[in-house]
Amino acid sequence: MLLRHTPKEVAERHGVTINPAKTCQPVGAMYAALGVHGCLPHSHGSQGCCSYHRSALTRHYKEPIMAGTSSFTEGSSVFGGQANLLAAIANMFTIYDPDIIAVHTTCLSETIGDDLNQIAQKAGDDGRIPAGKKVIFCNTPSYVGSHVTGFSNMVAGIVRGLAAKTGTPKDQVNIIPGWVEPSDMREIKRIAKEMGVNIVLFPDTSDVVDTPQTGEFKMYPDGGVTQAELATVGDSIKTLALGSFASEAGAKQLDIDFKVPYEVLDLPIGLSATDRFVQALASAAKVEVPDSFIAERGRLVDVIADMSQYLYGKKVALYGDPDQLIPLTEFLLDLNMLPMHIVSGTPGKKFEKRIREIVGDRIPNLNLKNGQQADMFLMHQWIKNEPVDLLIGNTYGKYIARDENIPFVRHGFPILDRIGHSYFPTAGFTGGIRLLEQMLGVIMDKIDREASEPGFELVM
Ligand code: SF4
Repeated sequence: MLLRHTPKEVAERHGVTINPAKTCQPVGAMYAALGVHGCLPHSHGSQGCCSYHRSALTRHYKEPIMAGTSSFTEGSSVFGGQANLLAAIANMFTIYDPDIIAVHTTCLSETIGDDLNQIAQKAGDDGRIPAGKKVIFCNTPSYVGSHVTGFSNMVAGIVRGLAAKTGTPKDQVNIIPGWVEPSDMREIKRIAKEMGVNIVLFPDTSDVVDTPQTGEFKMYPDGGVTQAELATVGDSIKTLALGSFASEAGAKQLDIDFKVPYEVLDLPIGLSATDRFVQALASAAKVEVPDSFIAERGRLVDVIADMSQYLYGKKVALYGDPDQLIPLTEFLLDLNMLPMHIVSGTPGKKFEKRIREIVGDRIPNLNLKNGQQADMFLMHQWIKNEPVDLLIGNTYGKYIARDENIPFVRHGFPILDRIGHSYFPTAGFTGGIRLLEQMLGVIMDKIDREASEPGFELVM
């Protein structure tokens, strides 16, 4: 009964966010930087920020997350952090030997106004960046945006710092996968391979934050998009940006720098969004969708048909990142379920517009909010007023789920109290079956728990 004090009456709030449905920008910047091979993220601020960012990622991925910090003291807080960052760059290249250092700012260095472009330039001029090594950077002031904004900013930083073109057109498609699990990134690569399409996926955290136990410690795991791959993204046919919030900025930067056209798609979660992704990939690369893939889709459609009796008309509350919530909402509607309450802490007008486009007039009393005050407190109040049959979101929803006795599927970031998200994709047709299995599992568990003796069924 941790949240028993949450009142049912919803009052207009302006100055306060209670239990935000987001975290801070640098967490996303750090995650994106880990998706480049040989890259060491660096947090330009105080040690506390860096510790928080690392631990947020470690607790979700259950892997050690390596990163440097400028270790601001009172002096750097007053006079600026240039000296700290210059020393950090020299130390990190000398001691940890990364190929790339990816610097992001924090609230403190942003408030001071440190100019990362100028500091990186000076590090190069002073000979602190060894030959062949790179320092890339982006600004992540955490008093605006969210972890998704930070991810997006670092993806654009990766493009500015590492993308290039050889001048010889390449028969390949760039895919910016957005903030998804390493399992989803692996699945997107499998889909492309099955379709016979050459892709450069960046960032790519598969084999970085889900590494196998081999008995050998690798400071820089085998995964991640390589510099050699990024040096050809300017030659690609097209860029597919999956999720406008996390991926559009990077795709746009690539278009500006190298005239690579781009298309923004929803994340391929669920039936309809995966259909659109597969079609877009096939048409960009001018290939046919293979029969094996049509069978994969058919299996998802079969499970949907078989299980519709348990899902039809069920009310759902969901919260998290906009790029995830958009296709999830669409998938729920494809299942004839009713997404009633939707909350995202990430600001941006496109979110509400896209959700309303998808929902149309199917949910007349839809509760929808993102940005400031779109928090877990509001979500709980909405649920108290209009109870739901299913809750979908990150670990923090477990308090609401327990208080209100709602079946709960963990999805999104962070998931601190379960594993599975790193290993089993929810993207693609096969991922759709995984999502369905998770939703059905928790709904059936509740039915079993509460069934009378005569109603306790052995079969579905
Ligand atoms: S919100 Fe700002 S001060 Fe807090 S951890 Fe994030 S960057 Fe650091």
